[in-house]
Amino acid sequence: MEKWDVVVVGGGPGGSYAAKTAADAGLKTIFFERGRKPGDKNSSGCGLGQRWWRDYPELMEELQHLPSVRKVEMVVIKLVDEHGRLRYTSGTTGSDLCANRWPHGMDGISIYRRDLDPYLANLATSAGAELRTSTLVSDVIMDNGQVKGVKTENGESFQADVVIAADGAMSTMAKKSGMRKRWAGGCTLVPQLDFSCNEERMDEVIGNAEWCWFGSLFGTYQVNFRDGMHIGAGQWLRDDWSEKPLDMIKKLVSYPAFQSTLKVLEAKPREYQAHMLPWVEYPPKTYTGGMMLIGDAAGFPCPLEAEGIWHAITSGKIAAETAAWAISKGDASEKALAEYERRWQAGDLGKEFEFGKEYTKLWSASAFDPSAMEKQIQLLLEFSMLHPFSIVFDWGDAHMDCFNQHLEHIMDLAPEFGDFGKEYVAPLARGIWPKNMKRILLNVKPRIPGVRRLSDQNYFKLIAKLSKGLAPFLDPNIKQDAAVPRDVYERRGK
Ligand SMILES: Cc1cc2nc3c(=O)[nH]c(=O)nc-3n(C[C@H](O)[C@H](O)[C@H](O)COP(=O)(O)OP(=O)(O)OC[C@H]3O[C@@H](n4cnc5c(N)ncnc54)[C@H](O)[C@@H]3O)c2cc1C
Repeated sequence: MEKWDVVVVGGGPGGSYAAKTAADAGLKTIFFERGRKPGDKNSSGCGLGQRWWRDYPELMEELQHLPSVRKVEMVVIKLVDEHGRLRYTSGTTGSDLCANRWPHGMDGISIYRRDLDPYLANLATSAGAELRTSTLVSDVIMDNGQVKGVKTENGESFQADVVIAADGAMSTMAKKSGMRKRWAGGCTLVPQLDFSCNEERMDEVIGNAEWCWFGSLFGTYQVNFRDGMHIGAGQWLRDDWSEKPLDMIKKLVSYPAFQSTLKVLEAKPREYQAHMLPWVEYPPKTYTGGMMLIGDAAGFPCPLEAEGIWHAITSGKIAAETAAWAISKGDASEKALAEYERRWQAGDLGKEFEFGKEYTKLWSASAFDPSAMEKQIQLLLEFSMLHPFSIVFDWGDAHMDCFNQHLEHIMDLAPEFGDFGKEYVAPLARGIWPKNMKRILLNVKPRIPGVRRLSDQNYFKLIAKLSKGLAPFLDPNIKQDAAVPRDVYERRGK
């Protein structure tokens, strides 16, 4: 039986990047993909956001030139009411901060996986890793409770010092090694419908943008590529789940506004798929003796909006670096590979899950709850009527009367959202940086009679005494540009 330093299971983004990193480190590496080629079996396409420029700028530069790419300079948000009528369109802004954050500002790209996955797999093979396609890995080789390699469906065995499981949401490796039976908590099913479109019409009508549709639906998005686009809708998998995946998509397709989009883009349905996507508050344990889980197999997609490809390649890189370190020490035991979890927790990946609990709760009470969404859309529409342009263009009455009527209407609707705010939005306050909270409080200070003469230090002391919730933000020992640690916040009361 041939022996490898590293065996990677899965030739998706995570697996390929792990194989590339391991091969770059001089490790004898092989990776397996069950599809005929990488990308064959995966969701049709994806959006890659701004942090790719921060962390993988050279890669992002190269990806721009692949055939299916459409640049993304903004996200357009479409609000649709319960009757399917398009009521409001808005977009993300290109503020100075966004424009100057990285050399490419807010830009991202959308790309089909048939381009992205093979490109990443080629990086790995160019670095020296061997790729076996059309090969389903069906089991792990266990020895003394430690993973020592894998077996394929057709009976071949491959021994390795370290196995990296990059086999996606339904990870066979996680199950066969006994790490988990099924996802505890959130997992979604995402039905997706892909359309071919007229490229010139896409340029004229869509431009460089992604679209999101919010209504009495589930989380629904439209990702736009060079000459095609897809729509998808998500929902938690629950025991009482009655909605058929295709029905979720049909709702969006039936919107008159979406129908006109299809018409103007000369869109023709091309492919229907439904994929699983982990969407968890916090990844369960990500290592065992001889094996590490990465990407979707580990539960890494972002707990707020399920972006997962940056997470897959970032965890793949960390796992492969940890493998190189463990192999150099001659120790790939469970104790040694705990280092992997320490490394991802200490970096940007770990930061993603600091508010995992709050984000998943917020999402399930809004975008994933169609009836709550109906009311929230109405509230958002009322809020939208209060901005300066709406005041000018509401000609139903005298302008100031219109403004007041909308304000009154919001206040009528708002009490229903008091509980929502308390339960789902207020817990996120912990994430406001202490230095920003201090600036807010200092702005209020001159307006409070009696305290304006206090020194800032005494003013903060007084507030900390009066408000348990604000006290953690004023603690000089707390890091000024990070969330207040959960234990400190909870100990002092919200
Ligand atoms: C519909 C949908 C839309 C999405 N949109 C976005 C987006 O816009 N942006 C974004 O960043 N993320 C998006 N995501 C999330 C993203 O696709 C995943 O987080 C990401 O693909 C995870 O990468 P991975 O390498 O861990 O797993 P995968 O991409 O799932 O790759 C796993 C690979 O392993 C192979 N495999 C599985 N089992 C075996 C086995 N036993 N033997 C051999 N090979 C095996 C599979 O064929 C596959 O190629 C989306 C997800 C879905 C479902």
